[in-house]
Amino acid sequence: LQKRLGTAFRRFRVSGLLTEANMKEGLREVRTALLEADVNFKVVQKFMDRVTAKAVGTQLIKAVRPEQQIVKIVHDELIELMGEADPTVRFEKAGPTVLMLCGLQGSGKTTTCGKLARMLANQGRRPMLVAADLQRPAAVEQLKVIGGQLNLPVFSEANSNPVKVCQDALVEANRQNCDTIILDTAGRLHVDDELMAELVQIEKKVKPHQVFFVCDAMTGQDAVASAEAFNKALELDGVILTKLDGDARGGAALSVRKVTGVPIKFVGKGEKLDQLDPFAPERLAGQILGMGDIVSVVERAQQAVDAEEARRQQERLAKGKFDLNDFRQQIVQMKKMGSVRELMSMIPGLNQLSGEMGGIDAEGEIKRIQGIIDSMTPLERSRPDLIDMARRRRIASGAGVDPSDVSGLVKQFDAMAAIVRSMSQMSMFDKLKALTG
Ligand code: GDP
Ligand code: MG
Repeated sequence: LQKRLGTAFRRFRVSGLLTEANMKEGLREVRTALLEADVNFKVVQKFMDRVTAKAVGTQLIKAVRPEQQIVKIVHDELIELMGEADPTVRFEKAGPTVLMLCGLQGSGKTTTCGKLARMLANQGRRPMLVAADLQRPAAVEQLKVIGGQLNLPVFSEANSNPVKVCQDALVEANRQNCDTIILDTAGRLHVDDELMAELVQIEKKVKPHQVFFVCDAMTGQDAVASAEAFNKALELDGVILTKLDGDARGGAALSVRKVTGVPIKFVGKGEKLDQLDPFAPERLAGQILGMGDIVSVVERAQQAVDAEEARRQQERLAKGKFDLNDFRQQIVQMKKMGSVRELMSMIPGLNQLSGEMGGIDAEGEIKRIQGIIDSMTPLERSRPDLIDMARRRRIASGAGVDPSDVSGLVKQFDAMAAIVRSMSQMSMFDKLKALTG
């Protein structure tokens, strides 16, 4: 997505503002990327309207490429769509808390029952697993194995029905002093009336305190239909998204959240019982956009660039004024943004490069330049032409460098100042073009 946006946005780096016209192309890429990440098309449509409204008129930050800024807007909007993170389970004050997991066959219910039990046991709860899936032949055995691994009780009954199993489990849990009961229910390959009737019966008769819909993130668009059906039949309290470790890019999360209106509580990231994470919207948004940590780069740039200082500098630049004080100020701003290598490592594509250029110490170079400028007097900084051999020696010994390093820096500065001077005579348009390449 990053690369596509890069192409789409390159041509309006000349204008400092995102407008509806110049954004269209880039947003089309965003739209495609979301659809490819399995976000439901209706959700995408609404989403794009909101992003467009937000992005139009947003002032571009100089230090950040426009496409990165757009990605940030999209990213923030994704997080908003996914809702507040609420990775908690509410517990009843009196008596055991009953949690019911439901979902299609193979969505990961039984595994997630084990994961959840493990997590809650680590929090000091005493969970009991209940084998209420009497459809799948090996389901009871599977849950028993998981319970055995966790050293937690598993309740099951031969020749029974799901409602009775759950009801008897409640009695048994009280006897065994278990304070949390997790019901593993049956699923079907597709939503059908019989399955729903069975689940509704359990909900009615057993009255679980919370019902979680277990959703396989890899099923993409199909997740929407099943979420809709389960949400209609049952009163869902939350969603647990499984198999986010696979190729799935998590678009299902957006759709399911939108369709059910209930929060995503946890995400499964593997087959092992410790691979359950609290749902973190930022992380999933990043996964959907496939953009590494680009957002934190943008955020850091926003913090680092002191708006007032930037404006003052721009005014000076516009007048063709640029001395070593300005040069130093630029370097300080760069340093505030963090080490160059670190910044590069966060940007997909660039991170490889930063590894390859391991030999070049960009940060050390910045430090060295700053040291040299700091050893100059204010007069020397505003009038570098005054720096003669004697001054050069004094500055060099102050900064602990060679006098030739000082002349090198002054030469670098002269070249830059010349560009600034010539730019101040350009038209506004040419200037922006030169700045943005
Ligand atoms: P159920 O039919 O809904 O009870 O689903 P299961 O718990 O039996 O899981 C079906 C398959 O998905 C099993 O092979 C699990 O190991 C696997 N599975 C469950 N959760 C995850 C997950 O988060 N990541 C991965 N990679 N596999 C999972
Ligand atoms: Mg199962």
